[in-house]
Amino acid sequence: MARADYFDRAVQAAFHVLNDFDQQAFLKKVDAHQIALAFDSHALTPEGIAALDLSMRLIARFYPSIAIIPLSHGCKDAAHSLKTLAKSINPKIAIAVKLGKATDVIVVGKTVPLGDGKVNRYFIGSDGWITRFSRSKPVGSGTSNNLLGAGVAACLAAANIFRRIFSDAKLDDELTFSVLDMDIAAENPRNPVLKDVDIGDTYLAGAGAIGHGFIWGMFGYANLTGKLTLIDHDDIDLFNIQRYALTGRCSEGKKKVDLAADFLSWREGLQVTKFHGKWEDFVSNLPEDKWTFSRVVSALDSPKDRIELQASLPKWVVNGWTGDCDAGVSHHDFINHACLACLYMPSGSVKNEDEIILEALGLPPDQLRVVRDRLEKGIPTDRGFLELVAKGKNVDLQKLLLFENKPLRELYTKAVCSGAVMELATGTKSTARAEVPMPFQSAFAGILQAAVLIANAAGTPSLPGFTRINLMKPFIGANPGTSWTQAKHARCFCNDEDYRQAYKEKYV
Ligand SMILES: [Zn+2]
Repeated sequence: MARADYFDRAVQAAFHVLNDFDQQAFLKKVDAHQIALAFDSHALTPEGIAALDLSMRLIARFYPSIAIIPLSHGCKDAAHSLKTLAKSINPKIAIAVKLGKATDVIVVGKTVPLGDGKVNRYFIGSDGWITRFSRSKPVGSGTSNNLLGAGVAACLAAANIFRRIFSDAKLDDELTFSVLDMDIAAENPRNPVLKDVDIGDTYLAGAGAIGHGFIWGMFGYANLTGKLTLIDHDDIDLFNIQRYALTGRCSEGKKKVDLAADFLSWREGLQVTKFHGKWEDFVSNLPEDKWTFSRVVSALDSPKDRIELQASLPKWVVNGWTGDCDAGVSHHDFINHACLACLYMPSGSVKNEDEIILEALGLPPDQLRVVRDRLEKGIPTDRGFLELVAKGKNVDLQKLLLFENKPLRELYTKAVCSGAVMELATGTKSTARAEVPMPFQSAFAGILQAAVLIANAAGTPSLPGFTRINLMKPFIGANPGTSWTQAKHARCFCNDEDYRQAYKEKYV
């Protein structure tokens, strides 16, 4: 049994470099847990298989020891496919075929797996748009070709397992809700059958971790037609594999757009094209009379990129993001309510990148301008700046030298941003804050984007303009009820009459 090499590198970078944290205690916990996937022949529907598929994609890149447990006859082929998937994600993973050592088991289908009573069970399933989760009894899987409810259920299982093992946060108990509105109190969760949905001309800007969740979601909805253009300038590096749900160990070095397009090539109906470059390059390559973008999915990394995307005046944008313990989705039409740029203006709803990085690196406030400058101009990080960070974070300068002459954004994304900040209970009195790579957060945000996009194309309501969800807490009370319609930012360019006129001339 062994952890994936990218996992260790992500953890080392996150813990070693910037946190005075007991990495060994964390890894010991990772190694001490075996996560099982158990299912019976009732799980062998498109929805059941999708729940198993995404669960495996989220679990196998995190835990070095898993178990695959068929609970009835007729499950052999599915078990074999899951094993192949797990090995492609971590070739060194240990795979058991019995429940014996499992600490946590995700169950799909209708059978309760036997165990010694100590194993923690998470029953997941779906019925089209409806997600089902229970810790006490099987919830079954529907037979439709809408796999989005199943996808969200898999994210909930992975989040609950993570919470149980690594934090003191409570777990979810019983949940049934529609992905379309996430109304956990609804007596009859919305579950419309949307046929022949045409997404028209849709563009995905950014094929990273959230983009992977979105692509998985788009694959998971049959009968979509229309054109999807994938836009990303980057290649997949070793660090990415830790959080990108569609990657395997062999994906390193591939172009992000190629991997995403390959995955979608299995889905009939959608016409998928790709552009290897940034959004701004994509736009400037088009003649000006073609600068109309009816639907854009923003899965970009930085506020600057998002503001630039909004400035190119798409008709409608759905945005996905993760940060701290939250995952979120928002959608925007520029004229009414907040536009995408409104959220990322200084003191907007989402903290600015330069402020986040300043805080994460432990730098004094007077360095904000320096940080902003370095980010905008891509100035290589010099020894003097690293000394400031070493002082701010109280770590040995030697540990930071790895990032000398690299752009500041690289230091941040690789050393700090590989996941969410959370309080980790280590069994000692002090809880340390640490960055942990958590693939289920990005997958969750991306699947919600797919749901909002499909609903928009079908002309049916979905989530309000802005939704923020904390996957480190149970779905009760204000979570996931943190949806609202966001007002415009007073200083955003969407208030500017020239911009508004240009938008109206394009689309109205
Ligand atoms: Zn705005």
